[in-house]
Amino acid sequence: MSIDLEPCPFCGDRDSVTDIFTRDGRKIVCRCGASMIRFQPNASEKAAAAWNRRAPIRTVGERHVG
Ligand SMILES: [Zn+2]
Repeated sequence: MSIDLEPCPFCGDRDSVTDIFTRDGRKIVCRCGASMIRFQPNASEKAAAAWNRRAPIRTVGERHVG
């Protein structure tokens, strides 16, 4: 069971959002620099839910898009 991802909260682009599944969890990234990482059991659903709540973690500092 997976959760569909919303478009990026920063650039609004859906096609730029990429899912990366790792051994330890799930990482959701966007080409604009936004990212969301979860390393837990049920990481997949939690990462998607966190992303969809539009509360991304800025990992690359302030960036201007567009
Ligand atoms: Zn973006």
